[in-house]
Amino acid sequence: MKHTSKHHYDVCIIGGGPAGLATALMLRQHNKALTIAVVEKSNYNDHRVGESVAPGLEAVLKALGAEELLNANKHQISAGVISYWGTVHPQYQDYLLYPRGKGWHLNRTRFDADLAALCVTNDIDVYCGYRFQNSHSNQGERRLFFNSTNDTAEFVLGEKARTKQLELTTKFTIDASGRAAKFTLQQDSRTRHLDSMLAIYGIFDDEPSPIPYSTILPIENGWWYSAPLPEDKKIIALMTDRDLAKEHQLTNQAHWFDLLQKSPQVSLFKQSLNSADGLQIWPAYSLFRDKIIGQDWLSVGDTAMCFDPLSSQGILKSMLHGCYAAHAVHDYFLAKNDPDKAISALKKYNLSCGAAFNSYYSTWCEFYRSERRWPESSFWKRRYNPLVQLSPYDTLLVNSDRQSVTTPFCDKKLIQQLLSTCYSEKQVWRIVNKLKSLWNQAERFELSGNSELPEHFKIPDELIINQLQALVSNGMLTQVADSSDRQENSNSQISSHV
Ligand SMILES: Cc1cc2nc3c(=O)[nH]c(=O)nc-3n(C[C@H](O)[C@H](O)[C@H](O)COP(=O)(O)OP(=O)(O)OC[C@H]3O[C@@H](n4cnc5c(N)ncnc54)[C@H](O)[C@@H]3O)c2cc1C
Repeated sequence: MKHTSKHHYDVCIIGGGPAGLATALMLRQHNKALTIAVVEKSNYNDHRVGESVAPGLEAVLKALGAEELLNANKHQISAGVISYWGTVHPQYQDYLLYPRGKGWHLNRTRFDADLAALCVTNDIDVYCGYRFQNSHSNQGERRLFFNSTNDTAEFVLGEKARTKQLELTTKFTIDASGRAAKFTLQQDSRTRHLDSMLAIYGIFDDEPSPIPYSTILPIENGWWYSAPLPEDKKIIALMTDRDLAKEHQLTNQAHWFDLLQKSPQVSLFKQSLNSADGLQIWPAYSLFRDKIIGQDWLSVGDTAMCFDPLSSQGILKSMLHGCYAAHAVHDYFLAKNDPDKAISALKKYNLSCGAAFNSYYSTWCEFYRSERRWPESSFWKRRYNPLVQLSPYDTLLVNSDRQSVTTPFCDKKLIQQLLSTCYSEKQVWRIVNKLKSLWNQAERFELSGNSELPEHFKIPDELIINQLQALVSNGMLTQVADSSDRQENSNSQISSHV
C-alpha cells in the first residue's frame, strides 16, 4: 500500500457530519469552480447520536438541493413531543400543526451518508476513513495531515488512493469535526461550557408506532428523553450532570434501571426494560468556543457551539450555520485580493454565530427556569442561575494597567465599551443597566463598525455578566464585595432590576 497520498484543494472540510456536508453543498451552489474536499474519519457505518428534528429541516435541505433525502421510507415522520416539563400532565407539542413542514425521526447514519453521497455527485471529493491529526500553515497555504482509521476498511466515497496517510494542501480550512474540534483547539481556541450534562442512554426494542412522539420527562436530578429509532428501536436517555451521575452511580446499569422504574409515568417507556445491550455515555453539555475564525479557517456546527439536546435544534443549527459559513467562505474567495474585505466576511460569520448562541442561551435559561418543582436539587438550581457567579451587587474596579484581552464572542470594541462603562458605574447590575440603556439609545449597537448586524442580535443579561466575569478572570477588572449595598439576593434579580 502506498504510504501517503497528497492532493490540493481550495477548501478542505474536516468532518462529514451535517455541518460539514451542508457547508460543502452550499459552497458548491455558490461557486462551481472551487475545488472542495470533505475528510471524514468514519465510513458512515457508526452509530450517530441525535435523531429528532423539529420542523424546519425541509427548507434547509431544499436550499441545498437535497430535498429528496427526506424520504418517509428511510426516515420516520415525527408526530411531535409529549412533554411533562413543569407539570404532571402531558403537554403535546404537535408538529402536524406546524406551518414550517414536518418534524422527523432520522436514521442518522443513513442521513449523513446520503448527504455525503450527494456531495460526491456535486463534484466534491469525500475521503472516508481518515482522521485529522494536525496542520502547518505556510505562505497562504495550509497542509493538513490525516491518518487512516482502518487500513483494511472499505473506503466508500470519492476514493483517490488507499494510503495510510493523507496530506491535503488547502487555501481555506473548515473544521466541522463536531465536539472534538481538534483543528479549532489547535488554533488556541478555548471551550466554554455552560454545564456538565451527560446523556446516559440505552437502545431498546420497540413496537412500531403509527404516531411516533418523543417524550421529555423531568425528574429531580435531570430529565428522561425517549425517541423512536429506525428498525423498531427506541432510545431512552437520562440527562444529568456529570457529578450527579457519579454521586448516584447512574452510569451503573442497575441504578439507571432502578431510577427509570421509580420515575413517574414509567409506563411511557413501556418496552421490556431489560433489553438494552448496555448503557452508553455521551457528553451533552452546551458549549461555545471563544475563537471560531482565523486568517484562513473557520469552525462550524458543533465544533463552534453545542446546544442542549432539549432544544432538538442541534442538526438544524449545524446545517443552517453550514449555510452561513458557505456564504462567508464564498465572499472570502471573491475578496481574495483585498485581505481586509476577506477577513470582514469571516467576521460577519462570527457575529451571526454569536447572535445565534445568545438567542439560544436566552431560550435555554427561560426554559430551564420554567421547571420549578425541585428548587433544592443541584441539577435545577444550577440552571436557574447558570453562568452567573458575580453577584449583581459586586463592585468592579478597572485595572487600567492590564491590556489586550479577548472574551467569548466579544471583540475589542465591545470590551472597550464594557470597560468604559465600568469607569462610571461600579456595581454589576448598574453596569448591565447602563449598557442596555446605551444600546437602546443607539437602537442597535455596532460591533467592529459593522452596520449589518442581524436584527435579533441581543445580548442577554447573563452573557454581559459572563463577559464581565471573563474580564475579572483576565485581571482587567477586580471584584470587590461591597457589603453596604449587598443584599441577600439571587442573581436572578438582575433581570428585575434592568
Ligand atoms: C445525547 C445527544 C442527543 C442529541 N439529540 C439530538 C436531537 O434529538 N436532535 C438534534 O437536532 N440534535 C441532537 N443532538 C445534537 C446533534 O447530534 C449535533 O448537534 C449534530 O450532530 C451536530 O452536527 P455536526 O456536523 O456539527 O457534528 P457531528 O454530527 O458530530 O459530525 C462531526 C463529523 O466529524 C467527524 N470527525 C470527528 N473527528 C474527526 C477527525 N479528527 N477527522 C475527521 N473527521 C472527524 C465525525 O465522524 C462526524 O462525522 C444530540 C446530541 C447529543 C449529545
